[in-house]
Amino acid sequence: MSHVEKEVLEKLYRGELPLDEQLEVLEHISSCEYCAAAFAEVAEEMTLVKAPANLKNSIMHQAGALPVQLQTRKYALSKNMQLMLYSMKIGAAVLCSIIMLFTMDANMLHIPETALPGTTWLSDTADKVTQSIHTFTDQFIHGEVIKND
Ligand SMILES: [Zn+2]
Repeated sequence: MSHVEKEVLEKLYRGELPLDEQLEVLEHISSCEYCAAAFAEVAEEMTLVKAPANLKNSIMHQAGALPVQLQTRKYALSKNMQLMLYSMKIGAAVLCSIIMLFTMDANMLHIPETALPGTTWLSDTADKVTQSIHTFTDQFIHGEVIKND
């Protein structure tokens, strides 16, 4: 008898060989190192074929869960960053306005009467607005606005 073919060894491993053939092959394997090694290889291969089925499932399961989670967190983080940057921009704008209010010279709103005849009322109104802003900011500095509320 020549060496046992791989197909036969696989059938033997799966128990698909008729009993007489099974005995014949086993007898050969027991006396042939080459076929014994081949049978061991087949047995190893067929065990490994079963493993990836579970392995693949678990890998797919984890692969599906982890990166998606990371991706979602990254997205949420960037949203938070955007919100923070937006808030900082608003804060900077408010700060600029306040600084402008404090540093604004009342005289800046004066419109020379010679340049714009008959607009004294505008200049007066601007004066009044500037004055009330100054009063308000002064009160704000000394906490009077908060106290009176
Ligand atoms: Zn052999």
